[in-house]
Amino acid sequence: MRLTPPLELEGFDTIATDKKAYAQHFRAQYLNTDPFTGKPLAEKDGAGWIYQNRPSLPVDRALLDEVYGLPYARHWHPQYDAAGGISALEEVKFSLISTRGCFGACSFCALTFHQGRVIQTRSHESLLAEAKALTKEKDFKGYIHDVGGPTANFRKNACVKMETKGACTDKRCLAPEICTSLKADQSDFLSLLRKLRGLPGVKKVFVRSGIRFDYLMADPDPTLFKELVQHHVSGQLKVAPEHVSDSVLKRMGKPKHAVYEKFRLKFQDLNDQCGKKQFLVPYFISGHPGSTLKDAVALAQYLKSVGTVPEQVQDFYPTPGTLATAMYWSGLDPLTLQTVDTAKTPHDKALQRALLQFHLPQNDALVREALKLAGREDLIGNGKDCLIRPPSTSGRKKKNPHHNANLDRVRVKSPPKKR
Ligand code: SF4
Repeated sequence: MRLTPPLELEGFDTIATDKKAYAQHFRAQYLNTDPFTGKPLAEKDGAGWIYQNRPSLPVDRALLDEVYGLPYARHWHPQYDAAGGISALEEVKFSLISTRGCFGACSFCALTFHQGRVIQTRSHESLLAEAKALTKEKDFKGYIHDVGGPTANFRKNACVKMETKGACTDKRCLAPEICTSLKADQSDFLSLLRKLRGLPGVKKVFVRSGIRFDYLMADPDPTLFKELVQHHVSGQLKVAPEHVSDSVLKRMGKPKHAVYEKFRLKFQDLNDQCGKKQFLVPYFISGHPGSTLKDAVALAQYLKSVGTVPEQVQDFYPTPGTLATAMYWSGLDPLTLQTVDTAKTPHDKALQRALLQFHLPQNDALVREALKLAGREDLIGNGKDCLIRPPSTSGRKKKNPHHNANLDRVRVKSPPKKR
C-alpha cells in the first residue's frame, strides 16, 4: 500500500468560471498520470470531497498474457444473430493486441490518461498461441489484419529510466525533438512479425494500428521499415502526420514536418526497391488548437503540392481528458499558460476544414473567403499553385480546373488507432 498525501485541486465552482484555474487544474491532473511519480488528487465538491487514487502500476507481462489467454468466444453474443451479427467484429476478429501504453503523448489523445506512457507488452509465446488459435477459426482466410495497440511499433519503453522511475513529467519523449535519452529499438517487434508470418496457415500479417513514423525513422536499424513495406502493408499504410505547420505540430505534440517528409520519401524509396505500389494514407486534423487560417492555408498548399487531398477530413472537436481539449476550452496551453489561438465558431472551423478539401465545388465560397481573410488572394487564380480559380465574370459557373487537378483522392474511413 503506497500512502501519499493527495494534491489538493481547485473545486468545480472555481474551474467552471475561471479558465486559467481550469487550465492549471488540468495541468495538475496531466502531471500526475504516471504510476511512479503521480500523486493522488483531491477536490472539494460541495460538502464532500472527490478523491482520485494515484495511477496503478503497469500490468506485468505474466498477467497481461493470462488475460489475453482466457478462452474468449471470439464471436458476438447469440442475441445479435437475428440482427445479422456485429459487423465491427470483422475488423478486429483476426487482429492481435500486442501492447498497451503509449509514450507518444499526442495532445489530442487521452491515452496518457487511459493506459499511461509506460509500455506493457504480451510475450511472443502468448501472441503466437493466439495467432495459432485464429488459424483454427473456420472463417480464417490466412490474413492477420493487425498486430498492434495504441502505437504498433512501441514494444519497448522509450528509455531505461521509464521502466523503474516512470516517464518524465516535464518533457515528451518524441516531440518537438526526440529526447536524447530515447533508444529507438524495434527489434522485438521485428522478431515478432517474422515469427507470426512464418506460422502455418498464415498468408499475410498486416500492421494497421498507427505507427509512429518518427520512432521508425529514429531506429538506427532500418530492417523493420524495410520488412514493413515488403510484408506488412496491405496496399495502403495509414499514418498520422496531422499537420504541416511546425507551430501547430508543437501544440499537438507531434514531430516537425521535415520528419514526415523524410519518412514519406523513404517509404516511396523502399516501395520502389521491392517493386511495390503502395500508398500512404496521411491523416490531417483541421482546426486543432493553435492552428490559424494561415496554418490551414499552408496545409492546403502542401496537399496541392504532393497531389493528395483527403476525401474526408478530421475536424478537431473537444473530447474528454485531452490536453488539446483543455487548450480549446481555456484558450491557454495548460503546460505553459501561453495563449493559444483556436478556431471555435462553426464558421471559423468550417473555413479551416474547407481548405483541406479545396478541390470540392461545394467548398469554393469558404475557400475563397478563407484565402481573403488570410491575405492569400494570390492563391486564387489560374496558376499551377493556386487553390481555386478566379470568380467567373460571364455569369456562368465555370468548372474549377483545380477540381480536376491530378489529385489522388484519399478515402479515409477510420482514423488509425492512436497515434
Ligand atoms: S528521459 Fe526522455 S525518453 Fe525517457 S521518459 Fe523522459 S522524455 Fe521520455
